[in-house]
Amino acid sequence: MDVRAQIATVFHLDKCLGCHTCSVVCKNIWTDRKGAEYMWWNNVETKPGTGYPILWEDQEKYKGGWEKPNGELRLRSQSKTSALFNIFHNPNLPSLDDYYEPWTYDYKQLTDSAPADDQPTARPISMITGKHMDVEAGPNWDDDLAGSPVYASRDPNWAVLSPEQKKAMFAVERLVFFHLPRTCNHCLNPACVAACPSGALHKRSEDGIVLIDQDRCRGWRHCVAACPYKKTYFNWETGKSEKCILCFPRLEAGEAPACFHSCPGRIRFVGVLLYDADRIPEVAGAAREQLIEQHRAMILDPFSPEVIRAARNSGIHDDVVEAAQRSPVFKFVKQWKLALPLHIEFRTLPMLFYIPPLSPVVDGNGSDAGMFPDTDRFRIPLGYLASLFAAGNEEAVRYSLRKQQAVRQFRRAATVGDLAAETAASSLAATDCTAEEAEAIYRLTALSAANERFVIPPLHRETSIQTGAAIERGNP
Ligand code: SF4
Ligand code: SF4
Ligand code: SF4
Repeated sequence: MDVRAQIATVFHLDKCLGCHTCSVVCKNIWTDRKGAEYMWWNNVETKPGTGYPILWEDQEKYKGGWEKPNGELRLRSQSKTSALFNIFHNPNLPSLDDYYEPWTYDYKQLTDSAPADDQPTARPISMITGKHMDVEAGPNWDDDLAGSPVYASRDPNWAVLSPEQKKAMFAVERLVFFHLPRTCNHCLNPACVAACPSGALHKRSEDGIVLIDQDRCRGWRHCVAACPYKKTYFNWETGKSEKCILCFPRLEAGEAPACFHSCPGRIRFVGVLLYDADRIPEVAGAAREQLIEQHRAMILDPFSPEVIRAARNSGIHDDVVEAAQRSPVFKFVKQWKLALPLHIEFRTLPMLFYIPPLSPVVDGNGSDAGMFPDTDRFRIPLGYLASLFAAGNEEAVRYSLRKQQAVRQFRRAATVGDLAAETAASSLAATDCTAEEAEAIYRLTALSAANERFVIPPLHRETSIQTGAAIERGNP
């Protein structure tokens, strides 16, 4: 067992407001620069929809992540020979049109125009060319229209639904959407690191944060092509690639990343996980239906004496182990099995997990399925969520949704009183959830203070181990 420590995160989608505060905060701190105008290291998409860049989930189009055609795990974006041929032009890279052409407004028109009969207007101006432009796309162009046929039907996850499910979702009274905030996943098997011919990308040894060394980057953009989440970006001014740095200067000072700190919905949790690095090749190459279970299994129990001993042998400080024991991410992902990775089938082993959203609550008298409908009658079809968060494993998503719903029933029986305690108890029992666990889930989800949502380990650089060296290029 080769124990490593990883800063990992959870987004609770049932709480996301779609307010974009997170995106704006990151933009103001990190990408408010020339050449970075179109970059949103944190973006918030509306689903079902096409996302940013458009159709990023479609790996037939972008060829990101890993594949396992003959039992051997390899990058989809390149082989040893194609890496050479594509070095000056990679046909699978997103174009500016796939992101959007960033714009500003001619604000002076509003403040400095001479008095006239008509209101002055501020026309959009391209931040690339400096000329007037027609705005045709944006980083969340789907916003709030995502459930509508125009956008939803182009969502790659839409394809898994039956014609009846698609038709039912488009019934006007059943239209539904939810928000999907995205940052870099700081993956355990990062395709971006494996694809870089310059060795500029590395996974930081002490906490697993994936970074790009700006001095070593030669702008080949192989990382952009290889990342299936399209979370590395090319800066057209500097000629180098950039990505989310998980706000490591803030983490080193014991502060939560800026987009976490500022989130008014309090949907974001950060904590350390211990994992077994020896298992990375095996788990990344696991059969599709095994991916969720294997991914969870490689996360180690920080209370186990054997794990604590192995962590010490790997040079992990006791303070980090203690932080792992208090980690909200460990609770949501491993203990409670509520949080799931986004598109685990890309096989990068993401370390950002999502608690899938419940569908809108409707009253018990209408034609819909009542306040606590069976998960198979949710407005957001189970198959759609399973395609996003579980490589099609509906059971994993069903368990998470049922448990969330059971906790709601438990609280409703306790506080509103219109639900029999026996009904709530049987719902908890169906997900092997005790009353104590339900109370703990409720408190961490709804009432937690910042120091419970953000459990940041003290960073001990002096004891760091070279995780980056363990990732062989093209073959983890
Ligand atoms: Fe790399 Fe994973 Fe981040 Fe993509 S999401 S940039 S593969 S670490
Ligand atoms: Fe931006 Fe920091 Fe959030 Fe990454 S963690 S998306 S760098 S604000
Ligand atoms: Fe708003 Fe938080 Fe959702 Fe971002 S993650 S859109 S800040 S609620």
